[in-house]
Amino acid sequence: MQTSTNVKAVETTEPSRAETARRELLERIRDFMLRHDLIVTGNNLAAIGTALSGSNAALAQAFVAREISGDPIDQRWLDTVSRLDPETGDRMSELERLMDKMEYSLMRFAQTAKSAHDETTEHRGAIDAQIQAMASDKKEVSPRGEVDRVIDLSRAMLERIGQVEHAMERSQAETDQLRASLAKARIEADVDHLTRLPNRRAFERRLSSASQQAQLSGKPLCVAFCDVDHFKAVNDTHGHDAGDRVLVAIASTLNANANDNCFVARHGGEEFVVLFYGLDKDAAVEKLDGIRRAQSMKQLVNRESGKSFGRITFSGGVAEVNGVDDAREALARADQALYDAKSTGRNKIVAV
Ligand code: GH3
Ligand code: MG
Ligand code: MG
Repeated sequence: MQTSTNVKAVETTEPSRAETARRELLERIRDFMLRHDLIVTGNNLAAIGTALSGSNAALAQAFVAREISGDPIDQRWLDTVSRLDPETGDRMSELERLMDKMEYSLMRFAQTAKSAHDETTEHRGAIDAQIQAMASDKKEVSPRGEVDRVIDLSRAMLERIGQVEHAMERSQAETDQLRASLAKARIEADVDHLTRLPNRRAFERRLSSASQQAQLSGKPLCVAFCDVDHFKAVNDTHGHDAGDRVLVAIASTLNANANDNCFVARHGGEEFVVLFYGLDKDAAVEKLDGIRRAQSMKQLVNRESGKSFGRITFSGGVAEVNGVDDAREALARADQALYDAKSTGRNKIVAV
């Protein structure tokens, strides 16, 4: 039975604004997860929470754009945006910061050059005028004052040229350093931090140039999606960090087979993507199946716990890219083929 004091306490305790906001956010997260049929995991809660609260602006934008587009908000999409976007965002802002600095440095360089030009032109004009005046009166020895004036002007000009040279050298060194940082940041923006493979951004660019090349040369081009089988179970059993190490191991198997004819990237989450240059669908399937077999024969061991991960396999879906305009469609076909590989037993490669 409740005492009257208890009842009174409940009546007078109003939730604070922070508490109300927290409740509202939780309700929105819950509604969102139910609406999109997403499972309750730490990763999902973190991603949806930071997007809906607006604390991760890039992610929030991605959510809004996806809802507007009407494309499905499913686990796969969520894994991809939540794991790649904040980081890509950081790297992009680093690039933007460097670009700003570079622009500023170039502007200062241009200003130094302009003021040097203006000043030396002015000095040169004054020296010229003085020399003209002295020359027009050749017969007489120029008065001492005029010679001194030319000497003074020339000295001032030399001194200024020395200062400008120094400023130019400094700007040059600054610009060289910025250029080096920019090149490094550009490379980093294309690399996946975990596996060090090219990331999705790099892949998208490569797909576009490869499909143009293929169209021009008339050589075949294939694209494949590879997705680790039952990877969630690896995380659940061994933990997320161990899961990360498994991803690195799989990336390394795929990458060991990458060469001039084969470009491997991490597309997001536990999904990789491969471009096969000059291989038709059958040849690409054969090549990818070889990599799948190599992976399926490895016994991975968790070096932290000494426990075996067992055999970690992946499934793949292959499609041929028929011209530049077909690149997006080919990706969708490869994805469908991957889905078929998953639904018909996994640890296999399917082509459409
Ligand atoms: P399926 O064979 O159907 O692909 O099953 P699955 O368990 O591999 O697929 P599901 O999509 O259910 O789970 C994928 C999991 O991969 C969920 C997600 O938390 C995890 N994951 C995504 N990216 C990473 C990552 O970078 N590191 C780790 N450790 N886990 C990740
Ligand atoms: Mg997946
Ligand atoms: Mg998977």
